[in-house]
Order: sequence, then C-alpha cells, then structure tokens
Amino acid sequence: MTGSTKYIFVTGGVTSSLGKGIISASLAKLLQARGFTVTIQKLDPYINVDPGTLNPYEHGECFVTEDGAETDLDLGHYERFLDVPTSKANNVTTGRIYQNVINKERRGEYLGKTVQVIPHITDEIKAQIQALGRKGIYDFVITEVGGTVGDIESLPYVEAIRQLKWQKGRDCLAIHLTLLPYLGTTGELKTKPTQHSVKELLSLGVQPDVLVCRTEHPMQKGMKEKIALFCNVDANAVIESRDADTIYDVPLMMQAEGLDQVVLQKLGIAGYPEVDLRAWHDFLRRYKHPASEVHIGLVGKYVELKDAYKSIKEALEHAGAENECKLHIKWVHSEKLTAKNVAKHLGGLSGILVAPGFGHRGIEGKIEAIKYARENRIPFLGICLGMQMAVIEFGRHVLGLADANSTEMNADTTHPVIAMMEEQKAIENKGGTMRLGAYACKLTEGSTVHKVYGRKDISERHRHRYEFNNAYIDMYKKAGMSATGTNPQTKLVEIVEVKDHPWFVGVQFHPEYRSTVARPHPLFVHFVKAAMQQGATPVKREAEVQQA
Ligand code: GLN
Repeated sequence: MTGSTKYIFVTGGVTSSLGKGIISASLAKLLQARGFTVTIQKLDPYINVDPGTLNPYEHGECFVTEDGAETDLDLGHYERFLDVPTSKANNVTTGRIYQNVINKERRGEYLGKTVQVIPHITDEIKAQIQALGRKGIYDFVITEVGGTVGDIESLPYVEAIRQLKWQKGRDCLAIHLTLLPYLGTTGELKTKPTQHSVKELLSLGVQPDVLVCRTEHPMQKGMKEKIALFCNVDANAVIESRDADTIYDVPLMMQAEGLDQVVLQKLGIAGYPEVDLRAWHDFLRRYKHPASEVHIGLVGKYVELKDAYKSIKEALEHAGAENECKLHIKWVHSEKLTAKNVAKHLGGLSGILVAPGFGHRGIEGKIEAIKYARENRIPFLGICLGMQMAVIEFGRHVLGLADANSTEMNADTTHPVIAMMEEQKAIENKGGTMRLGAYACKLTEGSTVHKVYGRKDISERHRHRYEFNNAYIDMYKKAGMSATGTNPQTKLVEIVEVKDHPWFVGVQFHPEYRSTVARPHPLFVHFVKAAMQQGATPVKREAEVQQA
C-alpha cells in the first residue's frame, strides 16, 4: 500500500477477558490475507517494566520474542496468526513508559520543565505507538490497549488515542470491543452495558468507529441498528462476535461479519485484493477432521491455569493438525506425582511433555514423570526446566549420581549437573537478566533432532539462567545421553537425546514460541508423530459412537 501507515486502536469495555488479542490478531490476519503488511502492539497499563517478573498466576505465560523481550502472551497469538515475528517494540507497559520518561528527565532532556502525565507521558505513549509505523514497513499498526475503558490506569492511553485521532484524522481508527450479556430469565441479549461503555469512551473524547460485540447467542433483529443509533456508529460497523469453538475460527467469523471491509472503508482504502485464506482453511480442515487421536500428558506445576502453558498448548494443537490427529492433552500436576502413583497418572499416555518452570516446587514429580517416560519407552519432550530435569534424572538413575541436581534447587549439591552460567553469576537485578531471545545452535549429524529439523544450523529462543554443566558431558555420552545440539560460540548444551529410546529429546530453548499456524514447529510435529506411532487410535465417527 502506498501512503502513510494507518493506526488502528482496539479498546475493551464492560469486562476484561473479552478476547481483544484474538480480535486484533483476526483483523490483522484478514488484512494480511489481502496483501497488506500488518503488525500488532499491546499496551499494558501495569507498572511492571515488563511481564518477565510476573508470576504466571498473575498474568499467564510470558512470551519471549526473537530480540529477547519478555512480553504479554497476546504477542504469542499475534505471531501464531500472522507468522511474522514481533519484537520489544510490540509490547509496552506503563512501567516502561515511566522509566523512559524518568530516564529522560534525569538526563536533563526536559530542559527544566515540570514533567507531567499530559503531555510527557502521553507523548511517550504516542512515540511508542508510532515507532512501529516509522519503520516504514507496515501498512497497518494495530494497537491493543490492555484493561477496560474506565480503569484509572488506562486513562493516559485513551488520552493518547484521542490526541492521535485528532492529529492524524483518517489515518486512525478506533475499535471498541464490548459484551452483550444474555439474561436467561427473559431470554434476551442486553445492549445497555455497551451503550454505557461507549459513553465512558466518549466522555474521554474518543468516538469509536467500529463496535465488536461479544455474545453467546446470535444478535436479535434490529439490535445492530439500535446499538448504532445509541452509539453514533454505522450499523454495518456493529460487528457480532459469537463465542467460537476454536480461536482459529475467529478470523473467518470476522470475515463473514465484514470487519476488515468496514475498517478499510473507514480508513479510505479502496481497490484492495480479495482475501486469500486458503492455507488457513487447509489448517482448519486438518484441525477439525482428524483421522486419529492420541493422548499426551503435559506435566507442569501450573496446570490448573492453562494460560501458563499457552504457547505449548497451541504448538501441540498445530502439530496435531499437521499430523491430522486429535490431541487429548492430560494436564498432570507435577506436585502430585510420586514414585507410587506415577503409573496411575501417566499410564496409557502415548507421549509425555515436561514443561518449563522456575524454582523448587514440583520438580521431584517432574523427575518421576521423566523416569517413567524413559524406562517405559514413551516418547518424551522436555522443555527448558523439563530438559534440565531429564539431565538430573539420568544422572541420578543411570549414572548413579544420587545427589545430582541443579544449583537452582540445591546450591551445595556434590553433582551440579545443571549449573549457573558464568555471566549470570554477577547479576543481581531480576528483570530482563536471563539468557533471553534467539541463539544459534548446531545439531549433530544423524541425531534425532537433525532428522526433525532437516538441517544442522538452527536458531531458537531462550529464557533461562542455568545450563548443562559441560564437565559431565563425556560421562553422560558414554551412558547413552548425548548433547546433540550445542551453541557454536559458547559450546553450551542446547539439546540432549537418549539413545535406545523411541523418541527422547530435551531442549534448553523454547520451541513453542516459534510454532505458528502456517509453520507448525518440527519438534512438536515429530514428537506428536512419535506419540502416534506409540499408540494412536482411529477417531470414532459419530455413527460408530452411537452404535457402541
Ligand atoms: N529455572 C530454569 C533456569 O532458569 C529453567 C527456566 C525455564 O524453564 N524457562 O535455567
């Protein structure tokens, strides 16, 4: 597209958790499918500089970008939908905005002026939004504002949107996502909370151009017109967003509602190509009509909170679709696993994945799960802490190093098979100080991972402080666990494999961050394939189920 970058803002009203991230990603997908270049940014109104220091119970998974930023999990959706990497610039928090402004103040850049929320904080917000547009590569920058309109903490963001809309006119557009609650007693959807939410936005000087209404039931006749009239929007700009079976249906539902067309029309863009979503449809066909099914265990300590392992779950789903196989994920709490009950919890599974994590809680259960997978020859994938625990398990039970441990869990262990990297030892600050982002890795000729990736040079994203201790590398190799991926510069071990096992791979990095709908990650695809070989069963068609 020639001309200036267009800015689309997505705010939410009525309640949180309406799925702004999925709506933003779906709109982006539709624009991308018409040949436009798009990026999505998330503005988070909390004071943490980034979510890297947040407990997953607070905010779900922390998504890591290529350039090593620890970001909101919505960036994972953006990448999975668009298959375009995001960066540090795609997630900005209030903490970061204030940090930048305060740093500038300390450097004397405000020339003696009183530094205030308006204009200095709002100017910084506007600069962060436009930084992506200034790259000159995007036709559209979609900016999603976290939280709900009316929250005290999101006021400066809404003010920045108001100013940008005023300054840029037709190059900006505001989408407001609301909820139409359903009253069971009268069997009706109600529009009043939407009206109030728009009033709230209007009181802050922002007129939404498009309303996306989340609803459990179809909107009744005349409802769009009613909302349009009360909220000063066109009836075709009131978009129904029904609950979907899968998030991957949402782009198609938004297409059917004409969301992208309304957006293009309002931004004055004409003569654009048709949507080409053939690859997306193909993915959905394989995803929704699997030929077989398989049961995989995901062992972690946050299993009651599925958002903590969002990218892993989605990467497994992508791999299932690629193999035309329905995945049943059994979420297994690592704290509950013991030598006594492990067979009860993991018996019958065709694959076992041990999740990443920090700290001591649940690690002995993870070790039990790995021992079970190794001894019973069940395909195993260990990610980050899951890989480190596989090294410890092998040390304890195969090499006979009873005390083998990570110095993260026991600083005084006599066998620190996992230990802190030298450059990490001097670091005291917590935020952004791990080994973060993409690093190169060289694979061993003929190894399982070499076959999986189909090449020897790969790059994957990291987020950790501890590493395989190279002092033990020969001892492990002799006993059957080899390092089959290493960093070419530092020689740090990035992958371990156990031979004489159908499929046993532990990776120090996080492959899940790189899996997208367009390109499911080969490690997950091959892990699922190995699980299918272990014990997939044909999917029972409805008629067969009824007969049974
Ligand atoms: N706690 C481990 C480390 O810091 C593993 C981290 C992870 O699983 N992301 O090295």
